Amino acid sequence: MSLKKTNSFFKVVKYFFLTDIILGLWTTLKPMFKRKKTMKWPNQKVKMSSRFRGEHALRRYEDGEERCISCKLCEAICPAQAITIEGGMKNLTQAEMFRPDSNRKTIRYDIDMTKCIYCGLCQEACPVDAIVEGSNIEYSKENHEELLYNKEKLLDNGDRWEPELWYRIQNNIMDRTKRKNLENIEN
Ligand code: SF4
Ligand code: SF4
Repeated sequence: MSLKKTNSFFKVVKYFFLTDIILGLWTTLKPMFKRKKTMKWPNQKVKMSSRFRGEHALRRYEDGEERCISCKLCEAICPAQAITIEGGMKNLTQAEMFRPDSNRKTIRYDIDMTKCIYCGLCQEACPVDAIVEGSNIEYSKENHEELLYNKEKLLDNGDRWEPELWYRIQNNIMDRTKRKNLENIEN
């Protein structure tokens, strides 16, 4: 049988046995027999990368002292101008003005979460790992005002997520060290 006749024969077989349609249906049905990739959120949680940038938090030192020294680097670098900081001594008593290590404090630290683009630059700029982005994504609200975070809210987030935030920071340091070592080996 010539090649032309063979092709025509197969075309006729495909036409009568609807093989294209059956193959198409099988492609659609196949995922039913595979392991599901979707999760039953919020009952099942997704494992986030330690570099995922979610809700912000302000951290404290182990003795409860605020880490933030009001250097305003995060405010300056924020491309969305979402951060507003007032630092210094206004309305503070002498005792409140300085920490035992003589660093400045913020008297106001606000983040407009509706402006934030989650670029992570604030956390990168912070010299004392005070402002960080955790893995929490469950903070949707019904109105704008609730997404205007102030210092109390951010410190509260920090207190709540501290063990996880500490773990993420250590992980990122290890990742960077590994990358640097690899770069050194390559050079
Ligand atoms: S993550 Fe980026 S946009 Fe959001 S507050 Fe930080 S610097 Fe600004
Ligand atoms: S959070 Fe960090 S970068 Fe921002 S003002 Fe405080 S110490 Fe400076």
